Amino acid sequence: MVIRDIRATTVTVPLQAPLRHANGCHWGRFVRTIVEVEADNGLVGLGEMGGGGESAEATFRAMKEYLIGHDPARLEEMRFLIANPTASLYNNRSQVLAALEFACLDLLGQAWNVPVCDILGGRIRDRVSFASYCFFRYPNPRDGSGEVRAIDQLVAYARETKERYGFTTHKLKAGVFPPDYELEAYRALAASLPGDSFRFDPNGVWSAEQAIRFSHGIEDINNDYLEDPVYGLNGMRRTRQMTRVPLATNTVVVNFEQLAANVLDTAVDVILLDTTFWGGIRPCVKAAGVCETFQLGVAVHSSGELGVQLATMLHLGAVIPNLSFAADAHYHHLTDDVIQGGLMPYENGAIRVPEGPGLGVRLDCEKMREYHELYLRLGGYPYDRDPARPGWSPVLPNDRWANPDDGRTGPIPY
Ligand SMILES: [Mg+2]
Repeated sequence: MVIRDIRATTVTVPLQAPLRHANGCHWGRFVRTIVEVEADNGLVGLGEMGGGGESAEATFRAMKEYLIGHDPARLEEMRFLIANPTASLYNNRSQVLAALEFACLDLLGQAWNVPVCDILGGRIRDRVSFASYCFFRYPNPRDGSGEVRAIDQLVAYARETKERYGFTTHKLKAGVFPPDYELEAYRALAASLPGDSFRFDPNGVWSAEQAIRFSHGIEDINNDYLEDPVYGLNGMRRTRQMTRVPLATNTVVVNFEQLAANVLDTAVDVILLDTTFWGGIRPCVKAAGVCETFQLGVAVHSSGELGVQLATMLHLGAVIPNLSFAADAHYHHLTDDVIQGGLMPYENGAIRVPEGPGLGVRLDCEKMREYHELYLRLGGYPYDRDPARPGWSPVLPNDRWANPDDGRTGPIPY
């Protein structure tokens, strides 16, 4: 089997409501690039990458020059072909490599009639538990629903998602409002769902002193971890010396060099593995092995996903023995998906690992057409802009917080 063609299509799929974060906002939808790698036997493997548009599609088209005629089983060879570390100063293609790795694994699984997790060592679990991922949200631009700004709105949202999906772990994405307000919000969230576990992520925008102060205010909560309270390994290390809450990261340990640095002089307790940021599912499995050796915690990170990417997270979660925390996913904020059968269902806070060959998901051609057309109509959106605060940007450490009493939303095309 060799690769015969590579196609990339940008789609945008609506979210229930715009998701606010420390750098701006997901403007009511995700923009994703779906990659199809076709083999000479007619099989098509699927990949996915965040963002999109002409430049993303052109990047994947350009990979044809490297990969037409390449055997998809030769995954290590592909890494050096398109993402050699010594060439990556000029063309960092980790995320491109990840999408192509997903597609090649999908091709192999289909050709060998086994699910991807069987290629990665075999499943240890049949379902992967997820956390409810709570965001502060602007209201849906169309019907005004779904706003999360006041603390009672946050508590109601978390209770509703727990009721609907069965989550017993809850994450609050923060770094939007003043830290004292977010502390009050997090404590109210935890108090409203006794017996569950919690995690908090302000996306690295605090000072170490603020991070330490906040961590002291949450010690009595059943915390999984405090995620990226401050940016940088050194800030995390200094925070860690003065807190009793485990620290996690998806920002400052995203490759093996950084993982080694963290082992040699530990700054972070839990490594959040992202199949895109790490360059594929297999690097995440390898990293989980290193974490197992050094007894660092591991969880599955979400950088925003549709069903193809979610399948990579499920196969990763299925094979890692030391997955000691629920995975994160933005998935339950989506209104639809581009895979056949629509959104994958949650059962008791978990999603079944697909059992079909390869990644176990197939594209719904009609949905692909619909959401590609929606992308053509709406275009991209600036992830690091807040529609209600034109000209605003955060600094590090940040002190330019949004006002929780301000109900304005700004123009959001939808
Ligand atoms: Mg994070």
